[in-house]
Amino acid sequence: MHQKVEGIVLNAVTTGDNDRLCTILTDKLGVIAAYAKGARNMKNKNFTATAQFVYGRFDLFHHRSYYTLDESEYEELNLGLRDDIVRLAVAQYLCQLAMELAPEGEPAGEYLPVLRAAFYYLSGDTRDPKLIKAAAELRLLSLSGYMPDLVMCASCGAYEHDRMYFLPATAQIKCDNCAPGGGKGGLPLSRGALTAMRHAVLSDVRKLYAFSLSGESLEQFYRASEAFALSKLEKRLTTLAFLRTLL
Ligand SMILES: [Zn+2]
Repeated sequence: MHQKVEGIVLNAVTTGDNDRLCTILTDKLGVIAAYAKGARNMKNKNFTATAQFVYGRFDLFHHRSYYTLDESEYEELNLGLRDDIVRLAVAQYLCQLAMELAPEGEPAGEYLPVLRAAFYYLSGDTRDPKLIKAAAELRLLSLSGYMPDLVMCASCGAYEHDRMYFLPATAQIKCDNCAPGGGKGGLPLSRGALTAMRHAVLSDVRKLYAFSLSGESLEQFYRASEAFALSKLEKRLTTLAFLRTLL
């Protein structure tokens, strides 16, 4: 059975002499593995579109339990994100995170634009990679069912406070009156950092990265998002461990 999908190549490994086994995040089928015969060869029609981070269209053939790639057409190569080790490491982490969180064999149309825009900005170097990483991470976690409750202080209902704290284990926020100093495991959030977290979880995906944050507020946003990811992910992601040595 033939199927046309749009997707992003999350991973591509060489098999045999010249073949590639690609893990692709697709709109219609979620995360799939697709075998691209001969795609390691530069002259092969699928050589360009089967590299990691490429956004493109893929014409798949489904046979028994696996897919093979017939034709492909790239739209965004995202080559620029390889120019810098931090941006590359963020992109690799987002690929691994998507593999962990996105569904397999069922539509994942909401996940795709999160990664597509992240790679676009990382490639163009027009946003702080910390902002991209934290916003994408929170959004992917939320899409997969781990949506933190950021509306108000879980104890008193305050919407805003000069000092709020994020509690990764319970995915709640608490104000300084209810959890002085953040209580156990609480991470401080400035008003800016909390606004960024709310935006990352709830905004229109087309505007997911359309905000600015810097200094201590960006650090707080980054740390809170990462702490949440670490508390929810069942296994240790090697790409996150590597990224933590850089940032
Ligand atoms: Zn409170």
